[in-house]
Amino acid sequence: MQGPLENLEQWDDFVKERYDPNRPRDEFRKHDDDAPLVVREFYRLNHTYQTRDFVRQKKRQYLSLDRRRMGIWEALEYLNTLIDDSDPDTALSQIEHCLQTAEAVRRDGHPRWFVLTGLVHDLGKILCLFDEPQWAVVGDTFSVGCGWFDKIVYREFFAANPDSQVPAYQTRAGVYQEGAGLDSVDLSWGHDEYLYHVVKDYLPEEALYMIRYHSFYPCHQEGAYQYLMNDRDKEMFSWVRAFNPYDLYSKSAARPDAEALRPLYEDLIAEYFPAQLRW
Ligand code: FE
Ligand code: FE
Repeated sequence: MQGPLENLEQWDDFVKERYDPNRPRDEFRKHDDDAPLVVREFYRLNHTYQTRDFVRQKKRQYLSLDRRRMGIWEALEYLNTLIDDSDPDTALSQIEHCLQTAEAVRRDGHPRWFVLTGLVHDLGKILCLFDEPQWAVVGDTFSVGCGWFDKIVYREFFAANPDSQVPAYQTRAGVYQEGAGLDSVDLSWGHDEYLYHVVKDYLPEEALYMIRYHSFYPCHQEGAYQYLMNDRDKEMFSWVRAFNPYDLYSKSAARPDAEALRPLYEDLIAEYFPAQLRW
């Protein structure tokens, strides 16, 4: 897997601690300064290379969904072949994170589509298996083609992004109409947008918002980009925020038994998805 992170969880751990509800907001800076060097390097690459052109090129490359045909469980197993460089005994496998998220949602008695969303939300990370570098798969997303929100983590790294030299991309709304809605806005490319397109015909709108925007931390945690949203987005973001704690705080010492849980989840998958989807 193309670095610099030793494993994808290093980014998840970074945002988990940064957005811990008990952390005072004025400590963000200190937290960011204390991050491991590989995490800083990850953001440096992400902020340097995620340009508007890059995002549009990735959409052309991937959104025709003509790479493979796979069912959801098959995709989970495929994602699980992603081998991180870290110690395999301590790192959670990808399938375990998916199951822990889903199980935490299920324990809280949420609707079945919400449980299923927990199960599938990170399947877009199979982009790593298509040889995409980590900075084009994970990372907090941000809009491209308009000015970067002040409080984006490691914002200083945008100085090296070629879009910083395009004045039309540096105004508040940039190439967008204020209030036009996030559907018309290009976000930095990664696993959220890719999976949204794979599953968009099969899940309820609330689930699709959770999937498409779960890494959009500047928006769902810091309230950025309100002026790009429409009323529907603002309403639906309560679901994105409802999902976030399950993604970040469901990790536990007890590892889920994937084979034991499989029949239950195969039933749930079959309720919403066809046997094969286009990836
Ligand atoms: Fe994710
Ligand atoms: Fe996740």
